[in-house]
Amino acid sequence: MPHIQQLSPHVADLIAAGEVVERPASVVKELLENAIDAGATAVTVEIQNGGMSYIRVSDNGCGIAAEELPTAFLRHATSKLRTAADLGAIGTLGFRGEALAAISAVSRMSVFTRQKGADVGAALTLEGGVAGACQEAGCPEGTTMVVRDLFYNTPARLKFMKRDSAEASAVAGVVEHLSLSNPHISFQLLKDGQSVLHTPGDSKLSSAIYAAMGREFALGLVPIDGSGDGIHVQGYVTKPLCSRGNRGMQTFFVNGRYIKSQLLTAALEEAYRNQIMKGKFPGCVLHLQLPAEQVDVNVHPAKTVVKFVNERQVFSAVYHVVQDTLDGKEGAAQEAPPNPKPAAQTATPRQDFYQTMDAKTFRESYDQRPKGTAQPFVTRVPPVSSELGGRVAVSDVAKPMARPVVVAVPPPPPQEKAPVSEKAAPVTAESRIPAEGSQETVSPVKAPTVTEPHLPEEQAPLTAEQTTLTAEQEAPWRFAGEVLRTYIIAEDGENVWLIDKHAAHERINFDRLKANTEPIMGQQLLSPEAVKLPAEDYEALLAHLPLLEQFGFEAEDFGGETILIRSIPSDIDAGQIRETMEMLSEQLRTTGTADPDSARDAMLHTMACKAAIKGGWVSDPKELQVLVEKVQSGEIRYCPHGRPVAVKLTKYEIEKMFRRA
Ligand code: ADP
Ligand code: MG
Repeated sequence: MPHIQQLSPHVADLIAAGEVVERPASVVKELLENAIDAGATAVTVEIQNGGMSYIRVSDNGCGIAAEELPTAFLRHATSKLRTAADLGAIGTLGFRGEALAAISAVSRMSVFTRQKGADVGAALTLEGGVAGACQEAGCPEGTTMVVRDLFYNTPARLKFMKRDSAEASAVAGVVEHLSLSNPHISFQLLKDGQSVLHTPGDSKLSSAIYAAMGREFALGLVPIDGSGDGIHVQGYVTKPLCSRGNRGMQTFFVNGRYIKSQLLTAALEEAYRNQIMKGKFPGCVLHLQLPAEQVDVNVHPAKTVVKFVNERQVFSAVYHVVQDTLDGKEGAAQEAPPNPKPAAQTATPRQDFYQTMDAKTFRESYDQRPKGTAQPFVTRVPPVSSELGGRVAVSDVAKPMARPVVVAVPPPPPQEKAPVSEKAAPVTAESRIPAEGSQETVSPVKAPTVTEPHLPEEQAPLTAEQTTLTAEQEAPWRFAGEVLRTYIIAEDGENVWLIDKHAAHERINFDRLKANTEPIMGQQLLSPEAVKLPAEDYEALLAHLPLLEQFGFEAEDFGGETILIRSIPSDIDAGQIRETMEMLSEQLRTTGTADPDSARDAMLHTMACKAAIKGGWVSDPKELQVLVEKVQSGEIRYCPHGRPVAVKLTKYEIEKMFRRA
């Protein structure tokens, strides 16, 4: 039996160092956090070989007094925490007093520091944690820490290091996150002598994003700002069109601290549901502020994981604030609704809720809430009184719909001969979607419940870059015609709009179907149609026969991977049955059959698409006029797949093409 011995301080330091210092990026993080805590306004990070051979962090902060310099490198030495009670109310980033001790234990370090106003500075070198003599030194105000040969004395750790380029990108990630959470500080990162990041430190988050994450990403963002339940959500999210191929551009901060959170990712993505293409992800830089006692940051030593006391409220706040912005309320007035509703008596969530709440769980728990427990989520919207309900946007204002878009009228004259009137007559007699072989009978039973669009109220002016559809136009649009049998041309004084007629109609259908809670009446086909499907798609469709019925399809299993369709909703043309079933079954298969919401969405997508006019079809100008009005009202912005419905060409852009401007 070996004797029990206390570890030598050196070994204890090495073990502790392993916990704090994992790789160059963790060194940079600790040193930068110290610089921030020291009140620096400009910080430079320089690395060589991914930080393995050389890391320098220089700041213009308060500096360290010469007599305290050696103490700063002792374990548990900190100027930030005195008593256990302080732990609860920690405002600074570092507080364990461990970083400098740990870093110096596994490297060769030198420090140069001069306090503000001091005549002379101090320098100290350490090797493997053993400090040399503290010396006077002439150096600028602030502190410079140089870390050389990281892990030179811990070969086991050295073996775990990745290629220099991988370590360098981890360092860049750390600098990026800290620059996004501290826009008032100018950060510069030099990699092997080259400046790879430089933020202005002008206190604007947008400037920091532009500098740290690039122009392309920055230009695709919309600002968001709102609060609810004492949670303030502020920052930028990508426009649906500027979504990304992965989640790499989702950055979250909670009370200034960069964190990773499945909960926040789920809340964000839920807000983009049906606005973004499958396989695409929104990007964001979001700052959440909530009372310190609502977050426990001390769960993970690396501190990128937090625990929220009330996850449901956090989810809900992010979801609603983002969704409101996507609904076109960005930049609107700042005031809160005049009569905020009383706080909800939401039940405390289960403890196993932690980091496991996905969008589905949220929807379920949200839908089950008793009526009247809604909370106001203030998204800098104009004062409106509205009830939170289901997944309807918070401040949608009900606007009576004058007319449904699709109702039967006699077939229109062919497009070629149709006069393109300057101002088409108001469409009171409704136009019908012309399609070859369409059934003339339209079930009168199905009075479509039309979406209640929100009225764009005061909208802030949009940036020049914003070429996608916006809701702010005031001048009535003039319908100018159609080209390529697909694109509507309209003008609103200074701008020319191109509208994709299929995308626009698809969106209108989608919103209308989605808002409709009544079962849709089908119409019997003269003879049932048999549709043969790939085996898996057939299974997926069979599993959803009741859903089909709700939407007006009467279908039954015919055996042999074939479905027999007996009736269809009036929106769908009889000539489209096969295509509709193929699209629907494929969507049901890929979205999975377990989640009823996804299945319903697949249904809505299919119906909206198949009931819409197609590019290439001949359309009645009156019908196109209706689409123009809908687009102008700001009601529709993106098709349900996230593609744009309309694009704008400004007069200036056109004049530039003709070299007039
Ligand atoms: P902690 O940050 O947890 O207090 P550290 O080991 O990181 O522990 O730092 C120890 C102490 O050294 C800090 O509390 C602070 O007083 C001082 N210090 C470290 N870096 C700087 C800096 N860049 N500028 C001024 N003071 C610093
Ligand atoms: Mg520290």
